Amino acid sequence: LLLLPSYNIFNSQKSHLTTTGGLLATDFDEESCMSRYHQSSLRKPSPYKPSTTLVSKLRSYEMLHKRCGPNTDAYKRATKRLGYNNDVITNSNGDECRYVVWTPMFGLGNRILSMVSVFTYALMTDRVMLVDHRNDITDLFCEPFPGTSWLLPSDFPLTDQIDSFNRTHSHCYGTMLKNHHAVNSTTTPSHLYIDIFHDSRDHDKMFFCEENQAFIKNVPWLVVKSNLYYAPSLWLIPSFQTKLINLFPQRDTVFHHLSHYLFHPTNQVWGMVTRSYNAYLSRADEVIGLQIRVFSTPSGYFQHVMDQIVSCTQREKLLPELATTGSSQVMNITKTPKLKAVLVTSLHPEYSDELRNMFLERPSLTGEIVEVYQPSGERIQQTDKKVHDQKALAEIYLLSLTDKLVTSTRSTFGYVAHGLGGLKPWILYEPRHQKAPDPPCVRAMSMEPCSLKAPISVCQAETIKTTPFVKYCEDRITGIKLV
Ligand code: GDP
Repeated sequence: LLLLPSYNIFNSQKSHLTTTGGLLATDFDEESCMSRYHQSSLRKPSPYKPSTTLVSKLRSYEMLHKRCGPNTDAYKRATKRLGYNNDVITNSNGDECRYVVWTPMFGLGNRILSMVSVFTYALMTDRVMLVDHRNDITDLFCEPFPGTSWLLPSDFPLTDQIDSFNRTHSHCYGTMLKNHHAVNSTTTPSHLYIDIFHDSRDHDKMFFCEENQAFIKNVPWLVVKSNLYYAPSLWLIPSFQTKLINLFPQRDTVFHHLSHYLFHPTNQVWGMVTRSYNAYLSRADEVIGLQIRVFSTPSGYFQHVMDQIVSCTQREKLLPELATTGSSQVMNITKTPKLKAVLVTSLHPEYSDELRNMFLERPSLTGEIVEVYQPSGERIQQTDKKVHDQKALAEIYLLSLTDKLVTSTRSTFGYVAHGLGGLKPWILYEPRHQKAPDPPCVRAMSMEPCSLKAPISVCQAETIKTTPFVKYCEDRITGIKLV
C-alpha cells in the first residue's frame, strides 16, 4: 500500500484512535484492514467528537454482539426458536438475545444509508445487527465488531425466505396490521419482516410509532428491507429521542459518527482510494469534489447539466472564472500558482472531459491552476458486480476526503460522501424541462443525509412539530433530515 514515505504504523494507529475520539474498538489485526488505521493520514481531523455516552454505548454493543453473535449458544437458542413452529412463541423472559437483520436493497448509497439506520435502531433497542452478505458486502467492508462477526450465517433458518419477504408476506408487519392480525400480549411472532421504502404504506409506517415499538420489542427476529436513511424518523419516536439526545448531543452527527464506526473499506478498496489520492489529490492546495448523478432517462451528458455545474461552482466561488484567450485579465500570476484539484465522480466521463478542456483552453481569472480527475466512468449502474461496487465505494470515500463538495439532488451516493466527510455540500437542484435551474445549487443545512420520502406516520405528526432539529430537506420537500 503506497502511503506516506516514512510511514510509521505505530504512530498512525495511535493518532487515528485519538482523532476518532475513542469511537473505534482497538483490538483488530491491522494488516487485514488497513483503512481502519490509515484514514487519518488522508483525512483532516474531524471537528465532531463522539460523546462519551456514544463511546460507551458502542463498547457495550460490542459486548452484546460477542455474547449473541453467530456461533454462540445464545445465537443457537435464538435460531432454534425460528424452527418448525415459527408462527408464534410465548413471551421470553427478556434475557434472550434479539436480532435485526439488514438486507441489501438498491444501489450502494441506499445500502449504506439503510445499514446505518438499522444499526441506529439496534443501538436504540439493544438488538444485534447481522447482515445478509449473499451479495458482495465482504468485498467492500471489513468486520466492524471485534472478536465476532456481523455476517448472517448461511444456515440461518430464514435464509431461503428472505428474498420472498415483501408486502404480501404473512410476516410483513404492515400487512399484519392492515389485516388486523391478532397482536396480543401472550403470543409474539418469532420474526417479522419490516418494509421501509420510499413508497411504503401507512401501515408499514406504523413501525415508527411508540406503541407499535412496545409490541415489536418482544419479537426476537426482525428482517428489514429498506432503501432509505430513516434515522430521522427514529428521532420522532419520543422514547428514542430521549436516548438519542444523550448519544448525539450534536444532532447532525448521527450518520457521520456511525458511518465512521461501521464502515472500513477492505484492503482492495482502500488501495484504490490511496492510489487515486496520492496520484491526483495529495499535492493540491485545495480539493473540490463534484458528484454528478443524472437521473433522467436516457441518462448521459447534457449541456444544461454542464451549464448548471459551471454556474454553481463559479457562483459559489468553488472554481475560478475563465479569462478570454490571450487576454491580460489574469490576476496574481506567481511562480507557484495555487493548485486546485477537482475530483469528479460520475457514471459519465464527458463532464470531467469538458471541465478539463475548459481549464486547458483558457487561463483562470485568478491564476489558479485547476486539475480535473475522474477515477472511473462506468456508464451504467452495475450493482452487485464486485469491481464496479468497489470502484463506487472508493469514489464515495475519495469524495468524502475533499475540502468542498458539490453533490447531485436526491442521490444517496452523494449523501454518503458528505456525511462521511463531515461536509455540508452544495446540492445541485434537479433540472426541469432540460434547463439548468436558477439558482443552480443550494448549500446544505447540515452534513446529515436526507431521509428521502420520510416515513412520517400519523403518530409522528405531533412530534415533528416539537422537534426543531428535524427539517424538510433542501432538495426534497417530502424528505426530512437532522440539522
Ligand atoms: P443513487 O442512485 O444516486 O441514490 O446512489 P446509489 O449508490 O444507491 O446507486 C447508484 C449506483 O450507480 C452506485 O452504487 C454505483 O454502482 C453507480 N454509480 C452512480 N454514480 C456513480 C459514480 O459517480 N461513480 C461510480 N463509480 N459509480 C456510480
